[in-house]
Amino acid sequence: MIVNMSDNATEQQIEHIIQRIREAGFQPHVTRGTERTIVAAVGSGGRRHEIEALSVAPGVDNVVAIAQPFKLVSRQTRPDPSIVDVAGVKIGGPHVVIMAGPCSVESREQLLETAQGVKSAGATMLRGGAYKPRTSPYEFQGLGVEALKILAEARELTGLPVVTEVMSTEDVDLICEYADMLQVGARNMQNFALLRRLATIDKPILLKRGPSATVKEWLLAAEYLLAGGNNRVVLCERGIKTFETATRNTIDLAAVALAKELSHLPVIVDPSHGTGKPSLIGAVSRGAVAMGADGLIIEVHRCPERALSDGAQSLDIGQFERVVRSLTDPLRPLLVIGQLAKA
Ligand code: PEP
Ligand code: MN
Repeated sequence: MIVNMSDNATEQQIEHIIQRIREAGFQPHVTRGTERTIVAAVGSGGRRHEIEALSVAPGVDNVVAIAQPFKLVSRQTRPDPSIVDVAGVKIGGPHVVIMAGPCSVESREQLLETAQGVKSAGATMLRGGAYKPRTSPYEFQGLGVEALKILAEARELTGLPVVTEVMSTEDVDLICEYADMLQVGARNMQNFALLRRLATIDKPILLKRGPSATVKEWLLAAEYLLAGGNNRVVLCERGIKTFETATRNTIDLAAVALAKELSHLPVIVDPSHGTGKPSLIGAVSRGAVAMGADGLIIEVHRCPERALSDGAQSLDIGQFERVVRSLTDPLRPLLVIGQLAKA
């Protein structure tokens, strides 16, 4: 349930509501918006009628039930969009964030060259896998801690904040020492032990949509993070499994608009895994931005034909530069050049 405070509610009145929510057996979560303060009562087993009765408490405008099963990620709980700060890069604000880099970190030279290339082409964050979720155990599994060190070096060199995937609770502390943002891969979207652990860390999370997850399941996965105390969450649409086999996955751009309607969390799009086809990445990127996406994450390799993973869907640096330029094309002004302002 949420308690909407009136515009002129005092701090004391808000404190009183927080106290009463605790007494009724729920956890209070306060959102101070531009317009008003909202106090959500979440959890199970509390006494709902005691929350309903707060509608007549001083400073309260009204009390309403949260219609959706996800509570803290819901727009009802926070009407203003959340802005997630990743080492100074703001996701969810007026500018589109472009994360780019290789699927996997393969060597120091490969990553540093790619990082400098994507930065000069307009990327604002660097991606690179250290721990790779591969379908086959015989495929390249990532360089682990060595890759984390190379990523940190690339950040020093370029100033680009780093996002990398975490697959196991065991690796969380180590990855936190090196990365600015931790990615939960599509295959781990419902790894609840991992989500619970990531809820307790002081780093932003990039939560990819599972290949077979509904929008509701995706938002409930995000709810685990917020409910556990980490509200720095960015959602990522990366394509889902359908009957269609012409593209690697089926990119669900309507889900981007829907997730933004249902939730205050920023949403970005991964056209690389979403299509598996370099030729479609420009079109899907432009479509994603037009749909209201807050950013893109694109796989770029200095030499895709030599990549140890996902080379077939990776752009080379020149192709990536053309995709970024197409987003800022003055004849199709989705974005304002230099500022990457949202459409
Ligand atoms: C990746 O980003 O390289 C990756 C494995 O993505 P996903 O989890 O979306 O498949
Ligand atoms: Mn990949």
